Amino acid sequence: MTSIGGYAGRTDTGRKRRRNEDAYVIAPPLFAVADGMGGAQAGEVASKLAAAALEDTDPGRLTGPERVASLIQEANRRVHERANIDPSTSGMGTTMTVALVEDGGIVIGHVGDSRAYLVRDGRIEQLTEDHSLVNELLKSGKLSREEADTHPQRSVITRAVGTDPDVDVDSFVVQPREGDVYLICSDGLTDMVDDADILSVVERHHDDLDQATKQLVAAANRGGGEDNITVVTFGIGSEARPGDGDTATMEAIVFPEATDEHTEENTAVERPHAGIPPGRASVVLVVLFLLAVLVSLLVWGLMR
Ligand code: MN
Repeated sequence: MTSIGGYAGRTDTGRKRRRNEDAYVIAPPLFAVADGMGGAQAGEVASKLAAAALEDTDPGRLTGPERVASLIQEANRRVHERANIDPSTSGMGTTMTVALVEDGGIVIGHVGDSRAYLVRDGRIEQLTEDHSLVNELLKSGKLSREEADTHPQRSVITRAVGTDPDVDVDSFVVQPREGDVYLICSDGLTDMVDDADILSVVERHHDDLDQATKQLVAAANRGGGEDNITVVTFGIGSEARPGDGDTATMEAIVFPEATDEHTEENTAVERPHAGIPPGRASVVLVVLFLLAVLVSLLVWGLMR
């Protein structure tokens, strides 16, 4: 029996974008990341709609790759339908990468360039293959790895959820092992932080995935934070322990919710307490006060 150990999710606007068009879902045993695109606010609409679709779709008796593919196809139908009736969202779309933990294994399904990784035995493996222009060029030998990393069109994807009436989903199963950590992320992480650095952060915080996601987002911001950054992680425990961390009763978390103002401090878990904590606010005040004193002394000193 596959049991989920810890899990955590976090999204951040980054340092260059004004809005966050990413969304994620933590609804154990289902985890997902969506990275929306489109004019004005359409990217947000697309990723949010797709994320919500994952949660209230009943895939019937389907299991495995068929189940995940059907969930993503339903998300596709909803985003496409909305784009057709609402001209302000015309042409919108989103990436979607889903991991579903089943007894038969970890089912991964994806469309676009949001990736799933596996960290196991001190190594990191990229499980998904980007549906992107740059990856096509890379595979056909027209670009080197170095050129691909800095290519101006590296965010152009060749497949998206919502842009067409139907979508082709890649889905497959990974056999889990105790101690595995699975990571799903948007390109805002992978463009800014290379795989080796992702691995070292996850290894360092293997037993505290909330801290791991926090550190990964921070690393992406240190690397430039050029895009929205979203990271979802979950670990595989040794055995199912009913009543102990019972995930079945966990409320699903979809981020963002209706209000989409958020800061770097936002995480799914901490969300009810988002904002500047009182402690931090007073620290800010003290620092401001000390600065004011310093400036006054400086001015006074110069004027003498
Ligand atoms: Mn992105």
